[in-house]
Amino acid sequence: MKDIEGFLIDLDGVLYTGNRAIDGAPGAIKFLTENGYPFRCISNTTRKCRHSVSSHLLSLGFDIPEDFIFTPPLAAIAHMKNTGRTGYYLLTTGDVDRDFAEVENTNPDTKPDWVIIGDAGDKITYNSMNMAFRYLIGGAELLALENDRYWMAADGISLSAGPIVKALEYASGKTATVMGKPSLPFFNLALQDMHLLPEQVAMIGDDIITDIGGAYHAGIKGILVRTGKYRSESVDTAQIKPTRIIDSVSQIQDII
Ligand SMILES: [Mg+2]
Repeated sequence: MKDIEGFLIDLDGVLYTGNRAIDGAPGAIKFLTENGYPFRCISNTTRKCRHSVSSHLLSLGFDIPEDFIFTPPLAAIAHMKNTGRTGYYLLTTGDVDRDFAEVENTNPDTKPDWVIIGDAGDKITYNSMNMAFRYLIGGAELLALENDRYWMAADGISLSAGPIVKALEYASGKTATVMGKPSLPFFNLALQDMHLLPEQVAMIGDDIITDIGGAYHAGIKGILVRTGKYRSESVDTAQIKPTRIIDSVSQIQDII
């Protein structure tokens, strides 16, 4: 793949799973840095703010600048600011709410402009879902930080935000705007930051739909890794096939 000049790299399932780095992944990042290949990390992680994602990576041995990391809250904040409407109800877990601290939340408890759903884990209750539903019926728009079906948690495969988003869409009759992968604006945010064109870039991910499918629609080559949530059946049934499949990101040197 001689024409590849830069990379977009997924985090969960590609560089790490839970609190464990994928074997050889820190070396792969070191290789890119030392050889002058630009890269950005684009993750659908919505449980951690950008700063915490960066700290987590550092603790696992990855030397990656914080501003190389793109997460859906950044896209959501840009989207809200573009519209000039910044009242929101946030259904997330972890410390991802810290990313939103820079947005002045107008009328959050009365009539928010947005219902924002991330991977909310235990924060998903009848009451929190019903609150979101009532705001949607009351006129709020639905923003999905991500719409993945599942992810590989440290203790096993786990529901992601997608099924929750679908439930709220079903109840309210509204359609969510997806902020994270596979949405095109999210890929473009990272591409523009690297000053590269789509055809110069390859996306490395473990999700055939959000990583590989999203990259395809953005004009970016897709390299699927057999780590994280990779399942061969999901490749067999996918309409969009990856450009390459490699065992793990540690093989990045072999494909350049
Ligand atoms: Mg992943």
